[in-house]
Amino acid sequence: MGYKIQSGMSTVLNPFGPDWSTAPRDVSEATSVGEQVEDSLFGKKKPPLLDEDEFPDAAKVLAQLDKYRRKIVNLIGDPETDYFLQLADGTIAMIDTHGMIMVGIKFLMKFKDNMPVLVGAIAHEIGHRPKRWAEYKQQKPLNIAELQKLCRYEETRADLFAGRALAELGMSCEPMIQFLKDLEEGPHPEYFPAKMRADVIREGFREQTGKVKTRQKLWPELEKIAPKGHIGDF
Ligand SMILES: [Zn+2]
Repeated sequence: MGYKIQSGMSTVLNPFGPDWSTAPRDVSEATSVGEQVEDSLFGKKKPPLLDEDEFPDAAKVLAQLDKYRRKIVNLIGDPETDYFLQLADGTIAMIDTHGMIMVGIKFLMKFKDNMPVLVGAIAHEIGHRPKRWAEYKQQKPLNIAELQKLCRYEETRADLFAGRALAELGMSCEPMIQFLKDLEEGPHPEYFPAKMRADVIREGFREQTGKVKTRQKLWPELEKIAPKGHIGDF
């Protein structure tokens, strides 16, 4: 949160996620932490979805990005079909409970020649791994403050994962950080400022770069095989 973008795009408080300025819906009716988080993080109103056939230029960029989507999902070790890209309007990027990653067309086209920004954004979304929240069925619901704390933690985790994924893909994390800084208008009480997010992304990137180097040194032959599950537990 704490980010707004203008120039024709609708106001987006959190570039890679939900708008937490409103309380999660149905919080009193949720029966478990999993349901609450699903509602809060992934149950927000969806942006208008666009038909790729009507936007051939965007469809090309999305197809390019989809190759990275597959690589990132393989890094976690989740089934590839658990996540898919969908062209949308009025958002930067967000994911829903079914693994649909909605990518805003303006964001997509603005950064079509700056792939690390686009890849960083979808890596963040994949890092939320929405389907895993279904496992939290048994715990009792949290109050709003606890829920917001958990959601902030979840955002940090997604940023950490984005840094790691970029390292695995051999891409710099700096373009993504620059993007976050450019969007920022000021810190928001419910979210971390861009500088703090930059630290988290860089930390994930630095850690994972070390792991990649170690693997390349010790198992150079294995490194030529498509990686699977290299960021399994993050
Ligand atoms: Zn997020």
